[in-house]
Amino acid sequence: MRIILLGPPGAGKGTQAKLIVKDYHILQLSTGDLLRENRRQATALGDKAQTYMDAGDLVPDSLVLDMVEVEFNKPELDAGYILDGFPRTCPQADGFDGLLKNMNLQLDHVLVLEVPDAELIRRLTARRTCPECGHIYNLIFNPPQSEGICDHDGVTLVHRSDDTEVTVQNRLKVYQEQTKPLIDHYEQQGLVRHIDGTGDVQAIYQRIRNVMK
Ligand code: AMP
Repeated sequence: MRIILLGPPGAGKGTQAKLIVKDYHILQLSTGDLLRENRRQATALGDKAQTYMDAGDLVPDSLVLDMVEVEFNKPELDAGYILDGFPRTCPQADGFDGLLKNMNLQLDHVLVLEVPDAELIRRLTARRTCPECGHIYNLIFNPPQSEGICDHDGVTLVHRSDDTEVTVQNRLKVYQEQTKPLIDHYEQQGLVRHIDGTGDVQAIYQRIRNVMK
């Protein structure tokens, strides 16, 4: 199974991807996570990506496509994957179409998580993540048991540097201008399933399961 998860920042792509991974035994590929890992390890790519990410702008397509191409050659992805945060622009979608064609593979679903802007801002500014296991918390509706500490491994939670209100506003604008047009791109391929991304995490996941039947 090969799935793309589309939706604005804060729509819950990472959270839902983790639930899908467990049930469908496929891997999650998050370009945001890969880029953050490159930054942590101070690779050349991480250094190049830093200023774009801090401003909430997109990292140039050529860098992202090169990074992703390496990932797609890994045998672990043969069983399928869910893409979270990729593709994000029309050139990325075209590049990915070409890659799939060369590998003789097809996509199964493009899931579009829909959440109103006001809710996205509320979610993102209150979001905290565990740098160790990647678990995502929200101080308002899904806080950890002890303040600032991951329930799973006791590691101190972090507030992503691009989850501040000013950067979040820019990320939403970038989504509208550069990523939303991809919905049309995949509508033409008959792959798009719209999902109401509001409410309880499990309720949203049930909606996803229903459209994937
Ligand atoms: P995310 O964790 O998906 O919200 O991504 C965080 C940041 O990483 C984005 O705001 C971009 O700066 C960068 N990024 C992640 N994925 C991509 C992509 N597919 N294309 C360009 N930039 C990306």
